[in-house]
Amino acid sequence: MRLDAAGRYLLVAAVLLGCYWLAPAGAPRAAFQVAISVSSMLAVLAAAAWDRPRRLTWLIFATAPGLSAVGDGFMAWHQLRGLPVDYPNLADACWLTGNLTAATGLALLQRGKRVDAAGLLDSAVVTVGGALVLWVALFTPFQGGLDLAETVGLLYPLTTITMLAAAIWLVTSVPAPLEGRATAALTAGVLLGLVGNVIYGASGGTLDPQHRWFETFYLLMYAGWGFGAVRAATVAARQDMTPTWAISPVRLVTMYASLLVVPGVLFLDHARDLRLPLLPIAVVSTLLSFLVPARLWLSTRQLRVSTRQRDAYRDDLEHQAAHDPLTDLPNRAYIRELLGALMHRARRGGEEVAVLFVDLDFFKRVNDRLGHAAGDEVLQTAARRIRGALRQGDIVGRQGGDEFVVLIDPVPGPAELVEIAERILDTVGAPIMTAGGRAVISASVGIALARDGQIDAEQLLQDADLAAYRAKSHGGGRVEMFDDALRTGLQARARLEDEIRHGLATGEFELHYQPVFEVAGGRLHSYEALIRWHHPERGLVPPDQFIPTAEESLLICEIGRWVLAEATRQLAVWTRQDPAGHGGVTMAVNISARHLASRTLLEEVGRALADSGIPPARLTLEITETVLLDEPAADTHLSDLRALGVSVSLDDFGTGYTSIGQLQKLQVDTLKIDQSFLRSGEEAGQQLVQLMVTAAHAFGLDVVAEGVETQEQLDRLGRIGCELAQGYYLGRPRPARDILVTGGVSAANG
Ligand code: C2E
Ligand code: CA
Ligand code: CA
Repeated sequence: MRLDAAGRYLLVAAVLLGCYWLAPAGAPRAAFQVAISVSSMLAVLAAAAWDRPRRLTWLIFATAPGLSAVGDGFMAWHQLRGLPVDYPNLADACWLTGNLTAATGLALLQRGKRVDAAGLLDSAVVTVGGALVLWVALFTPFQGGLDLAETVGLLYPLTTITMLAAAIWLVTSVPAPLEGRATAALTAGVLLGLVGNVIYGASGGTLDPQHRWFETFYLLMYAGWGFGAVRAATVAARQDMTPTWAISPVRLVTMYASLLVVPGVLFLDHARDLRLPLLPIAVVSTLLSFLVPARLWLSTRQLRVSTRQRDAYRDDLEHQAAHDPLTDLPNRAYIRELLGALMHRARRGGEEVAVLFVDLDFFKRVNDRLGHAAGDEVLQTAARRIRGALRQGDIVGRQGGDEFVVLIDPVPGPAELVEIAERILDTVGAPIMTAGGRAVISASVGIALARDGQIDAEQLLQDADLAAYRAKSHGGGRVEMFDDALRTGLQARARLEDEIRHGLATGEFELHYQPVFEVAGGRLHSYEALIRWHHPERGLVPPDQFIPTAEESLLICEIGRWVLAEATRQLAVWTRQDPAGHGGVTMAVNISARHLASRTLLEEVGRALADSGIPPARLTLEITETVLLDEPAADTHLSDLRALGVSVSLDDFGTGYTSIGQLQKLQVDTLKIDQSFLRSGEEAGQQLVQLMVTAAHAFGLDVVAEGVETQEQLDRLGRIGCELAQGYYLGRPRPARDILVTGGVSAANG
């Protein structure tokens, strides 16, 4: 087993002590006695060298065994030389001073650490009580009065009391200044020294220092100190404990014992007729009557403090659980709770509760352009501004993302609600300076009002959300009030969605095909597939009446999937039936923005082509230009589709925001000029068509003119070099069954 430094010292001390016991009386024994004190001093000095922060403390402490060695040497020298010894003498001075420096050193170990007041008071109570006991035990024999030697002898136990006080403080201190075994060894040393000094004091200070039994107490004391000092210097104390203000059972019993000392001594005095002087008893009694209440006061104060801390901690936890960390606003769950409570109260009072749903516009753009840190700043600022726009008592919470919820209670009236909402719009719309740059956002606010508790909190929030959605779809930066029209509209929408789903499943949909012809020569170029719905009750429903609704959900993707499959299948059928007339004809399918954005489109197009056997070059996807602006994924999806060999046509060109200059960069092959341009008889409109055709050709795009209704329009297209045309004049959209039956579509071409 490897010994650490403290263990090695203990071994040395044990060997020296063994030698002391075995050595013959006289010089050898005295030599070992001095050697043990010196070894203890050296060990404490080593501790001073290793434990820099407590160097001074250990140096002071080291004087105790050092002085002891001097005292021992002095006595041994006198005895061995047969010289007379007077009491008190230099040895007494050394030993007594050593007791005091040891006590000072032990007390100084508390230095640099937060004083454990409870531990200090506890040790003071014990020390004061213990001192009285010692006093009675030691002084009683000397009722007749003390000579100088006796007085000095009694100074031993009394100075030891100071060591004891410091040691008790050391033991009771939390967190402990020293490692556990170091504390135990130092304290054990003090207790052994106390026993030795009591014996010595009781002897009147005349005991022979060569008396082995009696002397061993001191030697063990020094060995314990040496070990404790080295151990304290080399092994770190545990730091994980916090001071305990509570009075543990052990401390309570000790405190009671100390309190009982005074009545015990008085009883003894009376019973034995000791005639003890009253002053020390009165002093101890007075000290205790201060110390014990002080200790109790400390406990109750700490109890109060820790209760407060615990309450604060719990409040903190509750706050964290209920609030959004970024804005410190009530979070989604807490807002629901608050709204529920408000509505419950309002129901009983017959009042109204309103919810404003605030959805920031363009927030994603802030995140993309200025970074997420700036996005966070914008949210924090928006939160602060919204709160600033409210009346006292109104509550704002963060619903999540860039959405906030405001609870208005009591509701002043619809006009004031709109006023509050507009205040929010104004304040949120002001530019926000962030670390990443200037951000400008706006907000869409939806208002919903719960009258006489007909709806629940969840429904009210949903209504406000929907109103905000409507505000947003009207361009944002505005306020919408949820009303019955909106509710009915929503219900109608939900019903329509169900019907579309049902119609898709039961084959109520059909495609009509409108031909596109080459202007010069009139050859059939392609068909555009246009969807029709044979509603069981409403009859033929045009696409305008259900496509916009379907586009608000993923339903449009299901429709697109079906159209793709059906249109390619039909083209394959015509190709088989009429290879000469239809072998080179292409099929154009309208694709909605949401469908183009979905990742599955590429796969679905591939499957439609594979299932029908139509080559990719014979399929065209018609998209509108808004898709190109709104949908971030559109560009990549379009280039993937074109890589497949499918061509892309830009539908309704001229109605949106795309400028002619942008055509070059777009992922399209064909331009479809919107029918409104052809219809306008004005000269400017004609020239615009001319311009678009020229530009498209310049960028290598084909051009289809839509909505050709007269021969005159067709002639004009021929003159300006537009190569493809589509319109009622050339052929109306017709079901597949009508197309080959009527002997081919070229018949329609006047
Ligand atoms: P669009 O893609 O611009 O389709 C052209 C529309 O103009 C068709 O209306 C067609 O019947 C009509 N049209 C063709 N020639 C003339 C003409 O000479 N004069 C007039 N006044 N109109 C003409 P339709 O079939 O009612 O379709 C309306 C819109 O519905 C389409 O506009 C398209 O945006 C959408 N749509 C139709 N079918 C589908 C589809 O399968 N999927 C998707 N996503 N949208 C479709
Ligand atoms: Ca179209
Ligand atoms: Ca069109």
